[in-house]
Amino acid sequence: HLDQRIEIKGRDELAELGNAFNHMTQQLLKMDQSRQEFVSNVSHELKTPLSSIKVLSESLLFQEDVPVEMYKEFFKDINSEVDRLTAIINDLLFLVKLDQKEVPLTIKNTNLNTLIEEILKRLHPLANKKNIELIYESFRDVYAEVDEMKLTLAISNLVENGIKYTPEDGIVRVTVDADHQNAFIKVIDTGIGIPEEEQDKIFQRFYRVDKTRDRETGGTGLGLSITYRTVLLHQGSIKVNSKEGEGSEFIVRIPLKQSS
Ligand code: ADP
Repeated sequence: HLDQRIEIKGRDELAELGNAFNHMTQQLLKMDQSRQEFVSNVSHELKTPLSSIKVLSESLLFQEDVPVEMYKEFFKDINSEVDRLTAIINDLLFLVKLDQKEVPLTIKNTNLNTLIEEILKRLHPLANKKNIELIYESFRDVYAEVDEMKLTLAISNLVENGIKYTPEDGIVRVTVDADHQNAFIKVIDTGIGIPEEEQDKIFQRFYRVDKTRDRETGGTGLGLSITYRTVLLHQGSIKVNSKEGEGSEFIVRIPLKQSS
């Protein structure tokens, strides 16, 4: 039983061994709990779109003389629920691979300024829809040893969130800078912000500050976990500063050179 503890009094070495054992069982217990939580989260996340599909398809099946427009509308909804399921499963598979370090990084010396500019170019239409100004600021040319595709995905998640969680007419600013050892990428928005007590939880899988609203924004709840894992694989770190109602700032630090 994992919740068993060893009581050892007496010789120092034995007491130390006992402590190490107790520590290890605590760790195993935690891992087991987080695994159970993960499975229950996954099931819940998959069940929600499945229930919608069920309701929509049943109402078409069992209703007589369904007007064509209704068919079209319901199938459109079914189709977007299927897209949602696919997105969740794809993100999950990618995350599991990242966790198992099954996806080796393809490291190349990369111009981060270009990398960010490409991301912003791709996300401009999304920002335009909400009349959000996307600003890019570069303080110097920064080259770093990174996996271009994976870092692109990681930073895109942050910029997409910036746009998602900022009301119309807001600003999302992305800056690139470096010192002798590290590159710094900041994604700053004028959005809804994240309450202080939630700030260290948002990197957990499926964690959302506002369960119903944030699900409606169409995300999978896995974006930040993917970003976090990717940055960690690059031996970097990620930090968030945020104030509710004022905005958020995500700071990514990536070493310029990867030590093997
Ligand atoms: P989601 O797909 O729900 O956006 P993420 O993993 O990307 O999932 O983010 C987790 C949660 O963190 C979001 O649901 C949201 O509550 C919060 N969040 C992330 N980025 C921001 C931001 N820029 N501003 C406010 N809240 C944010």
